[in-house]
Amino acid sequence: MCGIVGYIGSREAYPIIMKGLQRLEYRGYDSAGIALYCDEDIKVSKTKGKVEDLRKKAESENNQNGTLGLGHTRWATHGVPNDTNSHPHYSNSSNLVIIHNGIIENYESIKKALMGRGYEFKTDTDTEVLVNLIEEVKEKEQVKLGKAVQIALNQVVGAYAIAVFDRTKPDEIVVAKLGSPLAIGIGENEYFIASDASPFIEYTNNAVYLEDEEMAIIRLGKEIKLRKIKDDAIAYPNILELQLNLEEIEKGGYDHFMLKEIYEQPRAILDTYRGRLLADQGIVRMAGIDQNLEKFLNANRIIIVACGTSWHAGLVAEYIFEDMARIPVEVEYASEFRYRNPVITENDVLIAISQSGETADTLAAIKLAKEKGAFVFGVCNVVGSSIARETHAGAYTHAGPEIGVASTKAFTTQITVLTLIALKLASEKGIFSASKFHEILT
Ligand code: GLU
Repeated sequence: MCGIVGYIGSREAYPIIMKGLQRLEYRGYDSAGIALYCDEDIKVSKTKGKVEDLRKKAESENNQNGTLGLGHTRWATHGVPNDTNSHPHYSNSSNLVIIHNGIIENYESIKKALMGRGYEFKTDTDTEVLVNLIEEVKEKEQVKLGKAVQIALNQVVGAYAIAVFDRTKPDEIVVAKLGSPLAIGIGENEYFIASDASPFIEYTNNAVYLEDEEMAIIRLGKEIKLRKIKDDAIAYPNILELQLNLEEIEKGGYDHFMLKEIYEQPRAILDTYRGRLLADQGIVRMAGIDQNLEKFLNANRIIIVACGTSWHAGLVAEYIFEDMARIPVEVEYASEFRYRNPVITENDVLIAISQSGETADTLAAIKLAKEKGAFVFGVCNVVGSSIARETHAGAYTHAGPEIGVASTKAFTTQITVLTLIALKLASEKGIFSASKFHEILT
């Protein structure tokens, strides 16, 4: 996953964007870049390597000024990681500049058509195709940037979080999302954009998370305008007050995030079962299960879908569920599940597990299961994430931010939640006597 950061306001954008990119480093990337609007021009600095390398490059290119800018960390999908393919990308006229997280699946046919109409390409990326498509639409249809982005995105198949601005109209940024996360931070006469809230949490607690197929026109001095990409319907921004604490996402005195997160496990596990496992009363209380108990008790089987570490948590959960709750469980890799033609019925319960709540294959598996009428339950760590929103019900793991790439507390808290569910179902099915249940819990 790459990282997106942007700023429009009256402060210098450079330090905000660079610090923000550093906060998003945990997402993994191979190159980094920044575009700043300064002296009626857009200056881009970009490089393969780390954000620190970008800092050196931007300084050597004297590109540090401007109150409007976009920054990006790239995880290459189209074209090797090198300076040229790094984002941001200009359109042919150099008026538009874009950053993009995701994949444009039909970029080849669009590129061919654009080349046939005289467009030239300097990079191997799908992203450069998109920015030129936006530019062509804007000029041909004589529409504003927001409208051009909308029309262009309706021609695109794929996944994206994008941010784009126009050199000739430097008071707005247009953003859009489908399948990749994008948050907008709302300050006083200033706006921030980012892949998650960590780049702007020290400036504002107010944020809007774009939903899939939504776009926003972020204009200085104006309220954010949200629209549905497909049908142009107006959407109303749901402004959340974030509780995220900056210290939570820094290293807290440990040499590495991973070490910190290993030591955080007892606290994270406690946070996960606190208020749910009521040992004295011999009960497990989980709202998402309580409200849908019949679905679980009548389920023919439970299908667990996940990727990577979460999939391993699912494998452990299979043993726990079958042993305690006596419900048949199948564990599936989400990327396999979504591309085959699985048999799913209305009597199945699908449990989707994901730390970030943004795992694309798991999200696709959720959509598939919902279409087939299954009841879908999410287990994820990030509050308000896509999986949390897409599922019928769910339980958060409360592990806190996990920055280390090798999972620690996210995994152990997933096992905690899944064990709680198995315990609860076992008790509801009367598999354990009250005294046995009490004994297990204490
Ligand atoms: N598909 C784009 C590229 O390869 C964006 C990749 C990303 O998400 O960083 O440049």
